[in-house]
Amino acid sequence: MRLIRAFSFIVLLICSFSCAQNNSRQNDLKKWFESNGKIKILTTTRMIHDLVKEIGGDKVDTLPLIIGELDPHSYQLVKGDDEKIARADLIFFNGLNLEHGPSLKQLLYEKKNAYAIGDYLKETHPEEVLYLGKEVDPHIWMDVSLFAKTIPVITEALSKQDPANKEFYKERSFNLEKELKELHLSVKNILHEVPEEKRYLVTSHDAFNYFARAYLATDEEVKTGSWSKRFQAPEGLAPDSQLSLQDINFIINHLRTYNIEVIFPESNVSQNSLKKIVEAIEAKGGVIRIANCSLYADAMGKEGSRGDSYLKMLRYDAELIASNLFPQKGGILKCNE
Ligand SMILES: [Zn+2]
Repeated sequence: MRLIRAFSFIVLLICSFSCAQNNSRQNDLKKWFESNGKIKILTTTRMIHDLVKEIGGDKVDTLPLIIGELDPHSYQLVKGDDEKIARADLIFFNGLNLEHGPSLKQLLYEKKNAYAIGDYLKETHPEEVLYLGKEVDPHIWMDVSLFAKTIPVITEALSKQDPANKEFYKERSFNLEKELKELHLSVKNILHEVPEEKRYLVTSHDAFNYFARAYLATDEEVKTGSWSKRFQAPEGLAPDSQLSLQDINFIINHLRTYNIEVIFPESNVSQNSLKKIVEAIEAKGGVIRIANCSLYADAMGKEGSRGDSYLKMLRYDAELIASNLFPQKGGILKCNE
């Protein structure tokens, strides 16, 4: 009886938490639809949402379309999304084939008020955009200095929509650039405290190429292009959980070549691929560890966690990676979900 009561209490707790979250989401949505003189902005990801909110301040009402643990690569329009897209004065999305769910992708490229900030980056800084084979890598937010280069397209779009506040947006974008520059340096410093021979990252899917080039590689490796050895993932640019024996063997060889002892899960990607790699290594008598907590890449952390904003998620990732690669410095970071 006591067991049943305890179980009911836990269920009630979980329900009241998720119900409260749902209610707050519904309220945010209701507020966003109300006319209040502010520019109504829809973004696909929360990372873009945070940039736009910082620049637009109290002149804008921003709403992210893809929330929680949802995968931006495969997101398809659901009931209610059409109204959000129709109501938005401006839409900002990543582009570079991140949002490749057919229904969403087509609609975004049809809208004249929709800006693909990654495509803008490809036009203005083509040499900095990465490709894996023929596929463009969309994970530009994982290098803070690169993501900061999308600020002008957001600032220009806001100024065009609301010319009276042009100076306001300009000043805020200047401050944001400064803040992102500081974060970029700080992330680099945290990771460069890890000795060079230990600065190798393996995660579930190919989300950390920009991160590796910016924060794990040496200057010489960036110059020569050999930085790519600093990061590997068993799954491709979009997580798919489809691993062949060849994929597993490739990763195992990579782990051996660079004496890598720990691999990292991602918050919104299944750990199945990583577990298969661990099993294969253990079957051959080897040892590998899965890091104690998950990294944030395609999805941010829950409200109140250490990864609930763009700036916080990047810093958290840096600290989690550094502490797992080099626990000798100050121990392994505790998870804080
Ligand atoms: Zn991804």
